[in-house]
Amino acid sequence: MIGHQDGFSVYSTLARNRDKLWFGRLCGESVTANSMNQERIYYFDNNATTRVAPEVLESMMPFLTEHWGNASSAYRFGNHVAREIKVARAKVASLINADPNEVIFTGCGTESNNAAWQSALLTQPDKRHILTTSVEHSANMKFGEELRRRGYEVTFLPVESDGSLDIHLLEKSIRPDTALASVMFANNETGVLFPIDEISAICRSRGALFHTDAVQVAGKLPIDVRDSRIDYLSLSAHKLHAPKGIGVLFVRKGAPFTPYLVGGGQEKGRRGGTENVPYIVGFGRAAELAIESLPVERNEVRKLRNHLEETILVTIPRTSRNGARANRLPNTCNLAFEGVEAEAVLLLLDQAGICASSGSACKTGSLEPSHVLTAMGLPATLSRASIRFSLGIYNTAEEVEHVLRELPLIISRLRAADQPVAADREAAGVTA
Ligand code: PLP
Repeated sequence: MIGHQDGFSVYSTLARNRDKLWFGRLCGESVTANSMNQERIYYFDNNATTRVAPEVLESMMPFLTEHWGNASSAYRFGNHVAREIKVARAKVASLINADPNEVIFTGCGTESNNAAWQSALLTQPDKRHILTTSVEHSANMKFGEELRRRGYEVTFLPVESDGSLDIHLLEKSIRPDTALASVMFANNETGVLFPIDEISAICRSRGALFHTDAVQVAGKLPIDVRDSRIDYLSLSAHKLHAPKGIGVLFVRKGAPFTPYLVGGGQEKGRRGGTENVPYIVGFGRAAELAIESLPVERNEVRKLRNHLEETILVTIPRTSRNGARANRLPNTCNLAFEGVEAEAVLLLLDQAGICASSGSACKTGSLEPSHVLTAMGLPATLSRASIRFSLGIYNTAEEVEHVLRELPLIISRLRAADQPVAADREAAGVTA
């Protein structure tokens, strides 16, 4: 198990398996189960996080072992490190077609989001309103609530039943005092995509800055910040096969910006804190790999996702898709299984080695239905019966078949177990 190995032996294991892993990735062989794990894992939770690519780990290691200098130092030992940060910045910039100077490294996607929102408010003190949606990641939902407590106004726009946003409503809701409109590029639970080009154009014409949380899109679909009038865009490395704990905030040249973390003059004074060099280098390598593997995400991963989803919908009765079918990420599939509790499904999937997720959150001992599915108007019973499968470039057809074998058995087992309860309730006249 990985927990019994130290970092270096994990690295050597990965390095030894590197060619095998890379070969597997190209040939569609399973690489999720390798010598790192004694127990085979069928990983279908790539929107939660992704495995670190061996190439990424390899790029990072010299910056933990040999080149550990501080990039701000005057001597060559530090200068070398500063140069590598510059190289990584250029690589991440090309992933979104930005200028490297528009890329600020942060600690995570959450920080990038919070920084964009706070900056928009602080640089326009006469504007105290933020417009966003009711299906944003909790990084925005919770920060919005916090801003309300601090006296700002935040509007969370409703969404349609397929998870899409009424653009006219957005347009009507922009006010003269709207400092920022923030609409995610793609939803993490349903994969539903928002028309960022259109939205950014509306914001521009109405004089509001525009931020988009593109954390789920990078590496899955192309992003071109030059195609639209995006002022701020957030990324997180751990969604594209780099480690957790490193993010990026794109700030368009000319867009107002004031730092969220104030300290040393790092990132040209836009984000204090000594640079996390190995992770920045890893993010750069991951961005390079993501550009290469975009066709795989768009075609192969989409095919696998479609096969998984369509087969489930056909073979398991009383099952429905949550969110629009066409306009969504190629890897995400969110399904409601009537008559079961998602947490029970996840537990049984886990016993079969399958990692998936539900949008439910455990709050003070009870399961809160997902705020995304609730905003789409799904009843709480269906929301609590919903499972997200999110695929990635390492998934194989054989792994999908494993899910297709196990899931119908799990659902019918849980439904059968629930039947006496349902019958008792019916007999007692309980309808809800
Ligand atoms: N935004 C979205 C859409 C996400 O899915 C996530 C992570 O799940 C985040 C932001 C937060 O990113 P991080 O985990 O790097 O803080």
